[in-house]
Amino acid sequence: MTKKQTINIVQLFPDQMNIYGDDGNAQILRRRGSLYGYETNVLAYNSMDDQAVLQSADILVGGGGQDSGQRAILSELARARDDIMALAHDKVPMLMICGLYQLFGHYFATKDGDHLAGIGLFDMTTTASDKRLIGNIRINSDQFGELIGYENHSGLTNLTDNQPALGKVISGYGNDDQSGREGAIRYAAVGTYLHGPVLSKNPVLADWLLLRAVQRKYGTTKLTAFNPDNAKTLVIIDRQIELARQSASRRPQ
Ligand code: GLN
Repeated sequence: MTKKQTINIVQLFPDQMNIYGDDGNAQILRRRGSLYGYETNVLAYNSMDDQAVLQSADILVGGGGQDSGQRAILSELARARDDIMALAHDKVPMLMICGLYQLFGHYFATKDGDHLAGIGLFDMTTTASDKRLIGNIRINSDQFGELIGYENHSGLTNLTDNQPALGKVISGYGNDDQSGREGAIRYAAVGTYLHGPVLSKNPVLADWLLLRAVQRKYGTTKLTAFNPDNAKTLVIIDRQIELARQSASRRPQ
């Protein structure tokens, strides 16, 4: 039997950066990846001791965190910067939520006036505000259609003119409660405020991350269920997701 093709899903700083179940994104990628016939590994990256893990990433994911968690990972994030940027230039797909989304920009300025330095992958800055932007959110993305999630942040994110957004806000606050823009996309990296975890209601985005990963690694151009049983399972899962999307989109903000 030939060896299965593998997808390494590397989660950044799962101890500090994982609120509202954001680590579910890695689990969803693992599950869908295995239904498509890949051997999928979820690996944690916490420090440069795990540099080989980081460099092995086929997909990089990261979640939200408290300001204190963001502060705690700063020095290790700075040490990982060159490797993360190398992966980004190499078109490794990435999904960064909320707290790590902010730190993938140039900085996050806290209420105390501290500038927490980010890695500058996204051309944007974030500044804490007095208002908490919290509730259900729906956005319209040119690339992914309607994305549905839940946001909870006080940071206001300002994209430069050179930085495309992930989508336009349909309902909710988005990056800054003003511009109508939400998230950012650059190389194959997506940043967003959408929790949920976001991939639980947006399989289009999950499959895009998986396909980008196997395109880059194996030249694969299409994801297909590994066998008829997996095909049936995918139909059932996707039907449930569609029902969840319909009910979520009826909920008030
Ligand atoms: N501390 C950041 C903010 O409130 C990030 C919050 C989060 O990741 N949910 O803006």
